[in-house]
Amino acid sequence: MKLYNSLSKKIEEFKPLNPPKVGMYTCGPTVYDYVSIGNWRTYTLGDFLLRTMKLNGYDVTYVMNITDVGHLTGDNEGDADQGQDRMEKAAKRENKSAWEIADFYASDFMEGLEKLNLIRPNIIPKATNHIAEQISMIQKLEEKGFTYKTQDAIYFDTQAYEAKGFKYGQLSELDQIKEGVRVESNPEKKDPRDFALWKFSPTDTKRQMEWESPWGVGFPGWHIECSAMSTKYLGDQFDVHVGGEDLRSTHHPNEIAQSEAATGKKPFVKYWVHGAFLTVDGGRMGKSLGNAYTLWDVAEKGFGYLSLRYFYLTGHYRKPLNFTWEALAASEKSLERLRSIVLDLKNPSASERKQLSQDKLEKVDGYRSEFLKAVNNDLNMPQALAIMWDMVKSNIPSEDKLDLLYLFDEVFGLNMRNINIEEVKIPQKVIDLAQKRETFRRENNFGKADEIRIQLQQMGWEIIDGQDGFQLKPVA
Ligand code: AMP
Ligand code: ZN
Repeated sequence: MKLYNSLSKKIEEFKPLNPPKVGMYTCGPTVYDYVSIGNWRTYTLGDFLLRTMKLNGYDVTYVMNITDVGHLTGDNEGDADQGQDRMEKAAKRENKSAWEIADFYASDFMEGLEKLNLIRPNIIPKATNHIAEQISMIQKLEEKGFTYKTQDAIYFDTQAYEAKGFKYGQLSELDQIKEGVRVESNPEKKDPRDFALWKFSPTDTKRQMEWESPWGVGFPGWHIECSAMSTKYLGDQFDVHVGGEDLRSTHHPNEIAQSEAATGKKPFVKYWVHGAFLTVDGGRMGKSLGNAYTLWDVAEKGFGYLSLRYFYLTGHYRKPLNFTWEALAASEKSLERLRSIVLDLKNPSASERKQLSQDKLEKVDGYRSEFLKAVNNDLNMPQALAIMWDMVKSNIPSEDKLDLLYLFDEVFGLNMRNINIEEVKIPQKVIDLAQKRETFRRENNFGKADEIRIQLQQMGWEIIDGQDGFQLKPVA
């Protein structure tokens, strides 16, 4: 398996630290609002990677955190240590407590995971349930001389970190860091790259989410939760870390700095995987632009959730993918075609059960290995989809097509084994046959009509006669 590693900026052979075990972490949602289909692109990337690793026989422990405190609005303007806490801001907006906001959007996220058929991560830790672990990591950093105190927070000292021989910011390009620093940040900071580990509660207002700490009442900075929780569940060093490309310039370099400074072990993570953004109508996706669509917007427009999943498969994860409703409609059409093909394949007619020839056997093996090559080549899903369509159009036996489709679906996750019958369009040839039978029936040619009924049954369709004509139902 080959993967592009943002750390080396190269495609590398995937060699986990302790095969067949793999530890993988994805930065999860900040639960202050509905998750957008842009965010879902990144989480689905995590799922495609997880499934590909499983197909390769790896035994993966997958952790995805839920950020329910400490992610400030300043993150959007280039300084994640300033601004309002997104949770508390949302609480005001919705007239609820910050805790209620967190619960509501976290369970909404869990529902989304299921709708998009993402394999549930083994552990989904919440930041607010791991305050002790975060404090203890900050204490370790303090003992080792990597912190300093200002009026608003305990900061991580990047200069002290570099003085000890570590290199800050290997994931990002330097210009990205400079460009990032746009808002007025704390003048007491020694270096613009320094970031808050523990923020103090303001003196004039009472926060809803705050805790005692050795430094005073406050709350953890946004970055420390990922270091503390990934280390707790996956160890000081682990294999894969996934996130959107925006996290490459600050959040992830900060995670690396905290973790390596606290544990003294390098590298913190062996492979860093970053997904390019989903754009909308060729531009940025944003709440203020009114185009940060959610899964529920997709459903409201009448689309199936898995059509969105199919749409994600049509672009390579390291390239921006442009969302339009037309593109989603095209994906839905392809998925519907695929579903009716699967249904046909499940009930092959006698004439389709042909003898296996050596030539066909080789073709079956060929499709299998081409597919594996595509997904193992830095998750080339568009190519894997093309191989699938070639395969279903080929002349290999139906049973093999179905076996291969089920195998491919272990990565695609389009739920081909359990097709929801309501989602399946009736194939045209089934409709044509049923109409032919209706004509025979009207002509009182019941013998011929019965022959077609049996033929339809063999194709997986039950015909039910009623006063207003016939209905077609898949055979139960
Ligand atoms: P946030 O809720 O803003 O912390 O983002 C959660 C995850 O979604 C992060 O990994 C982001 O990098 C990712 N993300 C945010 N916007 C997009 C987008 N438009 N396309 C793909 N991923 C995104
Ligand atoms: Zn993170």
